[in-house]
Amino acid sequence: MTVAIAWLTRDLRLRDNSVLHAAADHRRLLPVVVEPASDPVPPHGFPRMGHHRRRFFRESCADLHHQLAARGSGLHIASGDPAPVLSQLADTVGATHIYTMREAASEERARQERVRRALPGIPFHTIESGYLFDSGDLPFDPADTPDIFTDFRKRVERHATIREPLPVPDLPPLPDGFPRPIEPATDTTDPDRVTPDMRAVHPFPGGERAAWKRIRDYFWKGDHLHRYKETRNGLLGANFSTKFSPWLALGCLSPRDIHREVIRYESERVANRSTYWLVFELLWREYFHWLLHKYGDRFFHHGGIRGRAPRSRPDPERILAWCEGCTGVPFVDANMRELNDTGYMSNRGRQNVASFLVKDLKQDWRVGAEYFESRLLDYDVASNWGNWNYVAGVGTDPREDRYFNVLLQARRYDPEGSYVRHWLPELSGLPGGAVHAPFRLDDGVLNAAGIRLGRDYPRPIVRPRAWERIDLTGEF
Ligand code: FAD
Repeated sequence: MTVAIAWLTRDLRLRDNSVLHAAADHRRLLPVVVEPASDPVPPHGFPRMGHHRRRFFRESCADLHHQLAARGSGLHIASGDPAPVLSQLADTVGATHIYTMREAASEERARQERVRRALPGIPFHTIESGYLFDSGDLPFDPADTPDIFTDFRKRVERHATIREPLPVPDLPPLPDGFPRPIEPATDTTDPDRVTPDMRAVHPFPGGERAAWKRIRDYFWKGDHLHRYKETRNGLLGANFSTKFSPWLALGCLSPRDIHREVIRYESERVANRSTYWLVFELLWREYFHWLLHKYGDRFFHHGGIRGRAPRSRPDPERILAWCEGCTGVPFVDANMRELNDTGYMSNRGRQNVASFLVKDLKQDWRVGAEYFESRLLDYDVASNWGNWNYVAGVGTDPREDRYFNVLLQARRYDPEGSYVRHWLPELSGLPGGAVHAPFRLDDGVLNAAGIRLGRDYPRPIVRPRAWERIDLTGEF
């Protein structure tokens, strides 16, 4: 009799799950998740998985367990180093095969390799999962992935077909003698337990069922998709963008399922620039994934893919101020506080805080990427490190100096200052767009708002020359 273990990592779903599909061919199946440790990672000491990500991960596991249990199976949730954990489990259940998703990044691949070595004689299958295209669907070898996004997009749009999602497989029973996994407990005394922040754009409950609820709410009930392109740069509110990213990152949702829902929306409601644009954005996710395949560890080097390190001067105080949202630049601080308090930040916010760290504060962009890795609910190795490469100017972007002038950006994307006041209540006494530059206001205005710079809110740690050129008449 054959007994499979499905080691699930970033594919915590039943639908369109090629790992579960392949593993379900066996007589017995044990689905397993191994929760990563949260030790601080040198050199900066950020925990690899911060508390927001951990909360989301645990909820996603609990949801998958419930769904599996309803089908006569269950999810075994372990923690620690996957190699000894899986080796022991394989012994206990007499595993004959192991299945897991194929990884692109070297650390994840090395971890898989350690597991494979710990299980000599047991076939170890790595299955492509979680992307619009499998490698064989691409019109080029992954090693020849076009460097420029537009070239990548045009080639896949013309010559590749997005497959239909897989249905939920019939699941074999758990291995003989293996007790049905216990319900994951919601421990109210858990120090890592996070109280949801009422100011968040969305509560982001973990799990596949919550992901599908979000699809229903965003596409069908709220009918927001037809305006996605116009609203996607917004900062406040649940529906300016889809908020699918956390569920995509842990694989609670597959991009092929999103694609199929877009097609359905286009046939039942409307097909327009916005419906196209959502698939366009999913192609960015795809692009960074295949670029990581191509360039491997260059993604993580200071010189990035391009191999040219930007000049930086390490300054722990600047880094700390950036991380804590205390730089004295309200648009940056508001975004960083949103990230710290909720685990989410809009795309517009990410581009600005990243550019500010690298181009204005002159810090090593990898500190920012590591911090995002720890904090983002939607942390995804290729999307995060790929976007940081891009913003830092060390990626494959043909435009070398993509500088975001945060004052101009603030005026454009938060003209009334509502976003900044939402996250920086200490500045709530400042009216309109004036809130973006308290350091330019005279003492009389600040006093009237009950603010003393340096006491109630920091003075700016830098005042880049580029800000001076901005016409600050009117709102500012
Ligand atoms: P929507 O606008 O609704 O987009 C739909 C989906 O398209 C997203 O869920 C995402 O899967 C994909 N997508 C959109 N933009 C991008 C992009 N620029 N790159 C890759 N995929 C994209 N996204 C992550 O999923 N994980 C990360 O770790 C991550 N780190 C980032 C770091 C930086 C410095 C920057 C500038 C961007 C990063 N992004 C990352 C991309 C983007 O900011 C988020 O995907 C987006 O804000 C998520 O919100 P949403 O789901 O509402 O996006």
